[in-house]
Amino acid sequence: MTFITLDLSRRRVLTGAATLAMGTMVLGAASAAMAGPAKSSQASVEYQTHPKAGHACNTCRDFQPPQSCKSVEGTIQASGWCDKYTHS
Ligand code: SF4
Repeated sequence: MTFITLDLSRRRVLTGAATLAMGTMVLGAASAAMAGPAKSSQASVEYQTHPKAGHACNTCRDFQPPQSCKSVEGTIQASGWCDKYTHS
């Protein structure tokens, strides 16, 4: 006859809990990294709804038609501009 022994010592339970907590933190960090970097606020990049020096969002590499941007949060006009402008 075989007996299965449950080893629920305090150390083993605490080690398991710590391992679970670390795993949760690693998964959380990985999830955040997959979401990509946070977007900048419009104010922080001096976003404006009109072009500057002939440059506008519709020729920027970060523009996502019809009204979005990979780098800046909120509604973005194709005719807008900000100081992150990079020609596509
Ligand atoms: S100019 Fe600024 S707001 Fe416009 S698409 Fe480029 S990064 Fe986004």
